[in-house]
Amino acid sequence: MNHLKLNTQIIHNIPVDPLTGAISVPIYQTSTYVQEAPGVHKGFDYSRSNNPTRKVLEELLAQLEQGEQGFAFASGLAAIDAVLKMLKSGDEIVAVDDIYGGSFRIFTHIYEKFGIKVTYADTSNIQNVLEVMNEKTKFVWVETPTNPTLKISDIRALAAIAHTYDALLVVDNTFASPVLQQPITLGADIVIHSATKYLGGHSDIIAGAVIAKTKALGEQIKFIQNSSGAILGPFDSWLLIRGIETLPLRVEKHADNAQKIADYLCREQAIEQLFYPGLQNHHNHEIAKKQQSAFGGIISFSLKEDTIAAAEAFVSATHLFKLAESLGGVKSLICHPAQMTHKSIPSAIRKASGVCDSLIRLSVGLEDAGDLIEDLKQAFRKSGNANAFANANKQYEQISASGSIK
Ligand SMILES: *Cc1c(COP(=O)(O)O)cnc(C)c1O
Repeated sequence: MNHLKLNTQIIHNIPVDPLTGAISVPIYQTSTYVQEAPGVHKGFDYSRSNNPTRKVLEELLAQLEQGEQGFAFASGLAAIDAVLKMLKSGDEIVAVDDIYGGSFRIFTHIYEKFGIKVTYADTSNIQNVLEVMNEKTKFVWVETPTNPTLKISDIRALAAIAHTYDALLVVDNTFASPVLQQPITLGADIVIHSATKYLGGHSDIIAGAVIAKTKALGEQIKFIQNSSGAILGPFDSWLLIRGIETLPLRVEKHADNAQKIADYLCREQAIEQLFYPGLQNHHNHEIAKKQQSAFGGIISFSLKEDTIAAAEAFVSATHLFKLAESLGGVKSLICHPAQMTHKSIPSAIRKASGVCDSLIRLSVGLEDAGDLIEDLKQAFRKSGNANAFANANKQYEQISASGSIK
């Protein structure tokens, strides 16, 4: 069915149940399977090793990312953990510097103590990667676009560098989704997803995925998945299949809405810096254009008044954009990284990685773009007034304290 377009493939590669004709994949909520004789069974003996509902999902994941094999995990971090378990003590990783906080935490607080070293580089500039590669490097590990500053790295160039050092290129493709970007077709070896985000798409499950380019890599991941056991359960597998059925439709609309909102935000006076790969002035706009079919649903911006208070006033003033962590669901979300996703990072380090005090991240949902823009406009008005009032008050207090007003 390879001549068919992605949306047709997805819908028709989800098989009809051979036993009953059920058009929706049955949820095989079972731990074990009756055997005809010891070791004689239909390919299923225990649900940690294999489950028919999860199997449909895993084949779908492989196909989505153009890999040889796919694997479903209990969370994005469980997927990341499984890939890290391919390494041994003494191995090294070169990772993108503004990596997802949870990835940074598992690298630093879990795997470093097992003797795995991680070196961070701004991978949006290839030269920085070349400078830190060495013969111990086993993985080049990137996200593109990154969170929350939407840095873009050149996947094809990074794959070439990794392979020169006999290392693998691992791409966390959560932000783009396979609809916008298929890293394996650009040379990546392993793709990871937090399926909690766009793949699930409805903010109702925690799930993760690993897709391997080759059968040999797939066998390693399969062994780890079964040995460590952080599999996705049958019901969540079913929910994820259901989410993926509408993935192309959703991602297209997320990106379309985000482009319209980014175009509006370009003209908004209170904004200092706007981050969206679809903007001509984005640092790696040309690379994004080359490797992505659209620019995704996440936008970040900082305010001219670069304070925690100004950002807090803004994120508290939206109505349609709900204040929450996570992204990629049908409902628009707004987040203040300095106080939420990046709170645990010391402020000097956070600022150095581009996450200033007033940085705000939008996960643009599937509502009407005009309604979302109106919501942002009223929030700028409301929070702008509140900030102006607070500033006037502060000035008044300073002046009173200095004694020039009696
Ligand atoms: C959310 C996220 C993860 C972690 O996934 P969970 O499903 O929350 O465990 C990993 N990478 C990226 C880029 C993410 O956004």
